[in-house]
Order: sequence, then structure tokens, then C-alpha cells
Amino acid sequence: MEDIINLCKRRGFVWQGSDIYGGVAGLYDFGPYGTLLLNNIKAEWRRSNVQLKENYVEIDSAMFKEPKVWVASGHVGGFSDPLSECRVCHARVRVDKELGKIGVEADEKMSDTELNTLWEVNNKSIKCPVCGKIDWTRARMFNLLVKSNLGDFTDKGESPVYLPGEACQGIYLNYKNIIDTCRIKVPFGVAQIGKAFRNEISPRNFLFRCREFEQADTQYFVKPHENEKPYQKIKQERFDWYLGLGIRKENLRLKQHTHLVFYANDAWDIEYNFPSYGFDEVEGIHDRTDYDLTQHMKYSGVDLNYVDPVTKEKYIPWILETSAGVGRMFLAFLADAYTLEELADGATRTVLKLDERLAPIKFAVFPLLKNKPELVKKAREVYAKLSEKFVCEFDDNGNIGKRYRRQDEIGTPKCVVVDFQTLEDGTLAVRDRDTMAQVRVQLEELG
Ligand code: ATP
Repeated sequence: MEDIINLCKRRGFVWQGSDIYGGVAGLYDFGPYGTLLLNNIKAEWRRSNVQLKENYVEIDSAMFKEPKVWVASGHVGGFSDPLSECRVCHARVRVDKELGKIGVEADEKMSDTELNTLWEVNNKSIKCPVCGKIDWTRARMFNLLVKSNLGDFTDKGESPVYLPGEACQGIYLNYKNIIDTCRIKVPFGVAQIGKAFRNEISPRNFLFRCREFEQADTQYFVKPHENEKPYQKIKQERFDWYLGLGIRKENLRLKQHTHLVFYANDAWDIEYNFPSYGFDEVEGIHDRTDYDLTQHMKYSGVDLNYVDPVTKEKYIPWILETSAGVGRMFLAFLADAYTLEELADGATRTVLKLDERLAPIKFAVFPLLKNKPELVKKAREVYAKLSEKFVCEFDDNGNIGKRYRRQDEIGTPKCVVVDFQTLEDGTLAVRDRDTMAQVRVQLEELG
């Protein structure tokens, strides 16, 4: 993972947030290639979850919400992780994660007594990650919501406003608007990609656990008790989506939750086998019953019942949710694509074998030589033409071998070289990233 993180910094995929001020833990900025990759992942996610589904729509809701939303959702009361502090250096750790590392299963849904009993029995062997001592406080729950201020609410000294702890609440709030305006009938789905903010106790593992991140969510509204079949289908579809974009099957698994929140019917995680970190959650798939809409109906006072237009049956739909961290998907795709290859001459090349749909740059265009104006002119023409349809890069810097290596490292599927033969017969030398084989083709044949 260290090599991948270095590549991200060196090639402009991801940088530490506020870098020139020394950086802030848990915040990251995406550089030019990172932004392209991120956008391609989101575009593929949208294609699969909205474009290819007749009964799904996408929305984009405001991040700030009426503060009661987070009370209704349960975040003000219970969106907490168990925290313990080192009595020696005051470093904070997440108790369930520390117990997990020594093979003791615990999670944030356990009762205070259950968790503290486990913690007290087991923490004698857990060293503080900062000072190495073993002297832990009792575990206490720490709320993850990030507070902010917004005129109307904070000026009056009323409840604080919060940044979204999860992106999906906007979907529940607009469920009625969607039904009233979109000619959509249960069962239907709503997709949204949005930012989430969490005061994570120990932000760590690069993009894996941040304080600010994006979530790609779908909520599928079904008739009560008609959840089982679509739930299985959605679970399988989401799993297959990763495989379809090149993730190796041995690095992906589905894991069922053992502790469910009181309202949930079922919950599974899609886990990726991250280098250095091991298998961990990329996406959650949750069968949530009518909890979300019932809560918002109670707190807003608005009737959120659905009336079936044919049978006139009235009910609160049940919700099947998929929630993926875009940064975690990004890291999984990068890690799976990251390849070190030994070449015939003993040198090593680093290649990002990203699926072509995800690759930040689709074609890199090079003139064979920088100091031959006729080659540069033709290469610029090819670059301009290809750029009309694809994200391309022009490079005339250094020898051709070095230019190939650079493109290999950022995952560009094809390098297109304008050489002397191009001037004669119009053909371009196209070099494939994975096989390094070259073919000659006309410009019109590309893409
Ligand atoms: P975890 O148990 O790892 O804290 P979670 O179960 O709280 O995650 P959810 O609330 O279900 O996660 O959020 C849905 C998705 O959002 C997760 O599957 C993950 O990909 C992503 N996510 C959650 N917390 C973070 C974070 N701190 N940094 C980056 N991505 C996150």
C-alpha cells in the first residue's frame, strides 16, 4: 500500500489535504489524474445504477439539512463509535477496531456493558499505537457528527446544524417529491452521490478512513415484505459490478453482519482485500425495513405513506440500501490494477492495469522526436482530433521509452506515436499498455 500511496502522490492522483500547512489527518485532495479516475468510477456507477435501470432516478440534495433530520435519523442520539484513550499519551483508538485486530469480534452496536467487558478482558495485550504503553480508559461512545453553523439556526441559539454524516438522508427527504413528480411507482430506486463528514476517532489507512469522503448510495423502495428477492438481486448486481470493472474475484467477498441494528432485516458488506490492510468494507448493502421513512414521518409530521395507484393499498415502503465509499472504491480499483512487471532486460515497470473505462487518460499522443516540426505538427493534429471524443494527453518530453513508462504508471491504455511512416502513409504506431505490442492503424480506426 505504501508503494501505491507513493504513486498517488508522485503522479498527481491524491495529495494530503492542506499539504503546504503540514497536512490534516483524514483529509485528502484529488489531483488531476485522481479526479479523472474518480469521475470515471462515478460515471460507471451512474451508468449501472441509473442509466441502465428503467425504474431508478438520481437526485442531488443540499448538504445542510434542517437539524431535526439528524435527530430523526438516529445520528444525534446514536451515531457513535466506541473510543478509548491512552492514559499515558492521550492517543485515541476505536475500541471495536483494536479488538478486531487481535481476533475479538466487537462492533459499535453492542451495549456499553458488553463492549466494556470485552475491552477490559482483552486490552492488556493492546499496545498504544503512539507511545507503545498499555494503559487504557474505559470505552465510551463518541459521536461522529461534524457540527457547523448556519444563520437561521445557530443565530437563534437553537440546535447546531450538522454536515451530513451520511449522504442518503436527502433521498428519504425527497421521496415524496419524487413520487409526486416523476411518474414512478413502487418498486423504484433513487440514486445519489454526495459528501459525508465524520469525526472519525482515528482517521487512518489513506483513503480508507477519512473525515470527509463521498458516498454513492441507492435506496430501493419496495412493498413491505417484498424485500427478499430484490435484496438478493441487488447484492449480486453490486458484487458483479466490481468484477465487471476488473477487480479480481479472489480479492472480493460478501460478508454478512452478525450484529444487526434493531430495525434491520439483513445487512451485508462487499469487502475488498486491500494490500497491507486485508479484507475490509467497500460497500454496505442493507435491508432496512420502513425505519427511515417512519422516522421522518414522525419528526416532520408529513404523511409519507405510499398509495398504490391501482390497488389503493396504503403503506410505508421498505427500503433496500446500497452505500459505497467512492474513495474506498477508488483505492480498491487502484490496488487491483497496480502491477510490477519484470522486463526482459531485467528492469521493472510499474503498470496500472485499469479497465479502459476507468483509466484517467485514454490516449497519450507522442511525436517520435521533439525537434522535427513536421512530426510535432502532425502529432498535435492527431491529439486535437482524438481529444474531441476522449481525454488525451500530449507528450513530447524525453525519450519515447520514458514516455511509455510514465503512461504505464498512470494506466493509459494506448500510446499513439506519430513517426516518419505516419507522414508517408498516415498510419500511427499504437502501443498497448498491457502487452506492450504495437500495431499500425489509421486515425479513424482509433477508439
Ligand atoms: P466502517 O464500519 O468502516 O466505519 P460504516 O459501516 O460506518 O463503515 P456506512 O455508514 O455503512 O459505513 O457507510 C457506507 C460506506 O461509506 C462504507 O461502506 C464505506 O465505503 C464508506 N465510508 C464509511 N466511513 C468512511 C470513512 N471514514 N472514510 C471513507 N469511507 C467511509
